[in-house]
Amino acid sequence: MKHISLMGATGSIGTQTLDIIKGHPEDFKLAAMSAGRNIDLARKMIRDFKPELVSVSEKKFADTLKAEFPGITFTYGHNGLIEVAVYPKSDILVNAVLGSVGLDPTLQAIEEKKTIAIANKETLVTAGHLVMEAAKRNGVQLLPVDSEHSAIFQSLQGEKEKNIERLILTASGGSFRDRTRKELENVTVEEALNHPNWSMGAKITIDSATMMNKGLEVIEAHWLFSMEYSKIDVLLHKESIIHSMVEFHDSSVIAQLGTPDMRVPIQYALTYPDRLPLPSATRLNLAEIGKLHFAEMDFGRFRCLQFAYEAGKAGGTMPAVLNAANEAAVAAFLDGKITFLQIEDFIERALNNHDKISNPSLAQIQETDLETRKYVNSLL
Ligand code: NDP
Ligand code: MG
Repeated sequence: MKHISLMGATGSIGTQTLDIIKGHPEDFKLAAMSAGRNIDLARKMIRDFKPELVSVSEKKFADTLKAEFPGITFTYGHNGLIEVAVYPKSDILVNAVLGSVGLDPTLQAIEEKKTIAIANKETLVTAGHLVMEAAKRNGVQLLPVDSEHSAIFQSLQGEKEKNIERLILTASGGSFRDRTRKELENVTVEEALNHPNWSMGAKITIDSATMMNKGLEVIEAHWLFSMEYSKIDVLLHKESIIHSMVEFHDSSVIAQLGTPDMRVPIQYALTYPDRLPLPSATRLNLAEIGKLHFAEMDFGRFRCLQFAYEAGKAGGTMPAVLNAANEAAVAAFLDGKITFLQIEDFIERALNNHDKISNPSLAQIQETDLETRKYVNSLL
């Protein structure tokens, strides 16, 4: 029986993680969870899963729930997230919270030697050097939840790092993959939220449309698999059946395939190195699919991907700027304050405006994050 701490339970990854826990009551128990502001959903989850500790975004929510569930401990805010992350009884932390708030709790859970199932991209993107160093020092395993990294991780089982030629991340192309740049000028929030293959949270769906999602994944892959940026390629693959691949020196390519369903990589992170059945998943029927398509990535069409490679290679605080500027710009787009193409303009301006700090501390990363958000909001 593995005890699980789940940050971001009320989100897209969070609810699917609970689906997996529910499907395997003999293997998993939810020990602690966090929610943000969706208290109605949190209440239902508390009833169904009876965790011992629950954190919410604000004190007033914690007080309301405390009155309803006297046997459960409630906490809130940033410290609440940390309490969930380091909950003593938990073996695994699933970090499925959105945004750079996920970083500090992850670092603290690593110090407590928890296994980390990482969905939250911002953790590795903003502070990959700190996270990987802490994981190594504590002998902690970081298990990828993101489908691309899970595919690479699965393809690397039994293989040696030194034999890798390159990683090939596949990209669906997002909501606007068939549109020209000109056609992107007047797209609406509703159109951007309509992803062809995956059902995900709002922010990451916009990131898929701008291709920033793939950019963040390139930076994550750099840290997770200690791979040079020149050895990480992105390939357009509109069906999202091949979730990513590894090419080896002898020209062999190993890939992981499946229908697009995030529960598969989530479950693998929870069961690794074992596998459990997932009866509700749709089996892959290649004969029915018939054809898979691939195309070269167009960096002029998807400028955010170019920014991400550049920020990743520059290192230091640049990826933190990339991430914070993107979070602020996407929030502004979702609020109807800026157009779709302004997202990339704002990110570019934030990157140009920043003086890089090499090898930043956690405090310097957090400060850069705040400063960048302030800068982007000043442009609105
Ligand atoms: P969602 O927006 O669906 O969910 C986010 C979760 O985080 C919710 O539980 C939300 O609470 C909580 N949350 C948001 N902001 C805060 C905050 N400031 N403090 C505390 N809690 C907060 O996101 P996703 O599930 O789509 O994504 C989560 C992470 O996983 C992201 O980093 C994303 O990039 C990554 N990821 C997602 C994938 C997907 O398929 N969705 C695939 C791969 C990676 P509430 O709703 O209660 O306010
Ligand atoms: Mg992904």
